[in-house]
Amino acid sequence: MRGTACWPGDVWGDGMAEQVGIIGGGIVGIALARELTAAGAEVTVLEKESRLAQHQTGHNSGVVHAGLYYAPGSMKATLCAEGRGLLREFCADRSLPYRAVGKLVVAVDAAELPALAEIERRSRANAVPDLTRIDDPGRLREVEPHVAGVAAVHSPQTAVVDYAAITEALAQDVRAAGGRVLLHTEVTGIRIERGRVRVITRTGAHLFDRVVAAAGLQSDLIARLVGADPAPRILPFRGEYWMLKPSRTGLVRGMIYPVPDPRFPFLGVHFTRGVYDDVHVGPNALPALAREGYRWRDVSLADTWGSLRWPGAPALARRHWRMGVDEISGSLVKALYFRKARRFIPELAMGDLARKSGAGVRAQAWGRAGDLLDDFAVDQVGPVTVLRNAPSPAATSALAIARYLRAHHLGSPAAR
Ligand SMILES: Cc1cc2nc3c(=O)[nH]c(=O)nc-3n(C[C@H](O)[C@H](O)[C@H](O)COP(=O)(O)OP(=O)(O)OC[C@H]3O[C@@H](n4cnc5c(N)ncnc54)[C@H](O)[C@@H]3O)c2cc1C
Repeated sequence: MRGTACWPGDVWGDGMAEQVGIIGGGIVGIALARELTAAGAEVTVLEKESRLAQHQTGHNSGVVHAGLYYAPGSMKATLCAEGRGLLREFCADRSLPYRAVGKLVVAVDAAELPALAEIERRSRANAVPDLTRIDDPGRLREVEPHVAGVAAVHSPQTAVVDYAAITEALAQDVRAAGGRVLLHTEVTGIRIERGRVRVITRTGAHLFDRVVAAAGLQSDLIARLVGADPAPRILPFRGEYWMLKPSRTGLVRGMIYPVPDPRFPFLGVHFTRGVYDDVHVGPNALPALAREGYRWRDVSLADTWGSLRWPGAPALARRHWRMGVDEISGSLVKALYFRKARRFIPELAMGDLARKSGAGVRAQAWGRAGDLLDDFAVDQVGPVTVLRNAPSPAATSALAIARYLRAHHLGSPAAR
């Protein structure tokens, strides 16, 4: 018997393959399901929404990061490099769009040069392919004809993809290999019983040998269901995008990024030419008022109160209030958002930002001291593995995260 739906009290069946439940149908959960079905496990994915990739995976910048920013040796650095290669191969195999449009990280003035030098140092340590440093504004404009700046690093292999389409294609492999993907299946409880795991959903219960949660914005709530430490908690950060008017998309060839503020784990408002040739501008980074708060009016008192009461809240507010005020003003007043974007493209006019084109909410974990976790983080509670912090570049890294979880947390899943 596989990890089939059964009500509490049903008899656990005996099968040859290990039965693994995966909570979350974003790119990480589905990539792991594919990895484990290929290894012979019997896998069931439990996803609360009516479709896959409805949260972070379907609301992001679509960038395949080349590894410029991450601390050398960190999980982000190693899994991003491995994941990028696997993703490129997967897209080629499945004829999915993968366009290496290239990225320029631009220092607009001399004050940003030390931070740019650190990005260059990290990029070289992370073996970012074909990276070059540009110190001549004329040469900058050979890469991006409309950009203004004093220096940049150029990563020609940074690419764009459609992560929702990739997730669907990965899910096809899961189903073809006998795995199950259950939609409309929200997990509400988890109990460890004699070494096995009973997962309770709104539509029934399931028994598994092991469970892995890749639940993004809800990952800390899932961790609590299995009795893990409440820290780190998820602090949802909304990122809003504008589109460039179709007649003005010629202002951007590939990607134009700012030099990021090293005190903050986000990359700053940037220009990205997507796989369908649209150019979006964003995302900013605002505290969201709900875990799945895509608009200002999406408010969850429980989520907001939970964040305000978190022990690290005063420290975080003290450290980042200035940036918070800046980001909130930019969200409410288009002219302020526009001013940030125009630093990089002086020709940009306010009317070129056509309309807000949606938003994503980042699942960023923070600790009790108000620290924003930098690296990916995984908790293990008996037979349950919870991926607790998987923000950017986890979409780029998903296929490598799947391999990592299999090797380090799931052992050999086919052998029960
Ligand atoms: C604005 C923004 C821009 C980004 N840009 C990039 C980028 O350019 N490149 C990049 O590599 N990364 C980027 N990221 C990060 C990337 O999108 C995420 O790291 C990645 O999608 C994480 O995938 P996931 O599967 O862990 O989470 P998600 O895609 O959030 O999936 C989690 C799933 O779990 C489900 N779930 C939650 N709770 C339950 C429950 N109780 N029961 C059942 N199901 C549940 C949810 O419905 C959801 O489908 C960006 C993120 C954002 C928000």
